Amino acid sequence: MRYSSMHTHTAFCDGHGGVEDFCRAAWDRGFVSLGFSAHAPVYRKTGIVSDWHLQEEQLSAYLEAVHAARRRWEGKLPVYLGLEVDYIPGLMGPQDADYRGLGLDYLIGSVHYVPSPWGGMMLVDSSAEEFQRDLGGVFRHDGEALMEAYWDAQLGMIRAGGFDILGHMDLIKKNNAQEQWFSSSSEGYNRRAAANAAALAHSSAVVEVNTGGLNRGSVQETYPSAAILRLLWEQGVPAIVTADAHRPEHLGGFYETARETLLRAGYTHALLFTGQPQWTPDPLLGQPGGAGGLTGAAPPRPV
Ligand SMILES: [Zn+2]
Ligand SMILES: [Zn+2]
Repeated sequence: MRYSSMHTHTAFCDGHGGVEDFCRAAWDRGFVSLGFSAHAPVYRKTGIVSDWHLQEEQLSAYLEAVHAARRRWEGKLPVYLGLEVDYIPGLMGPQDADYRGLGLDYLIGSVHYVPSPWGGMMLVDSSAEEFQRDLGGVFRHDGEALMEAYWDAQLGMIRAGGFDILGHMDLIKKNNAQEQWFSSSSEGYNRRAAANAAALAHSSAVVEVNTGGLNRGSVQETYPSAAILRLLWEQGVPAIVTADAHRPEHLGGFYETARETLLRAGYTHALLFTGQPQWTPDPLLGQPGGAGGLTGAAPPRPV
């Protein structure tokens, strides 16, 4: 398996380190490519004031910084330009036409905010304390309702389309390690995950096996879990491995765990992004870098 990641956050949003720091770390770790995916701005479309998204006025600086890195690393490390876009029903999503004019290589579609049937919405990618507070305030302490609403929102995003990579498919588990709010082994949970896997199979998007939760110590497994990855494999949904890096040292973190999880689910290959619209299959087993360099210049290096 050759190493790459299309899910990278720098100091332009909530990451630590500049674009160049991540490129250098990727190169040092034998990556064959690197993609940047700042959290797309939300304020103009949603009114949400956030310190973890790119600010509207920083968007062009971000685009230019990644373009400049692409030029600097040409012939060594292919650098790709993306955004991670929130899907917030009725307000914004990867399907919005404005993203198509930015010259991006790809979009990650992610659900971080979940609308409540009682009105309002809550952020699920939050601290345990914030999660518990919002579950009470926005979802009336009904964890099962939150779980259902999460899968609903994600299904809406998959149907709306416009993205290339489905972000952290089971992010909803982040604050539910002890299954204190809802059951993630119930038939209902698995039926919802299976339905979304089937919908994804009918789209052109791939799923990411995201090691970001492992990298940051917030969960003990990849997003998605081995069980959900099995459902995705049964539906024929292709997978990529990403670090969801917020620091350069996250790049490549827990990739062997991701590889083992993919193999256990039945996958023999992951995909590597090689520029829109191409994806290239890469065997999970076999010689690292042995299938021919993607860069044409970098010698095969152990990963
Ligand atoms: Zn995310
Ligand atoms: Zn992310």
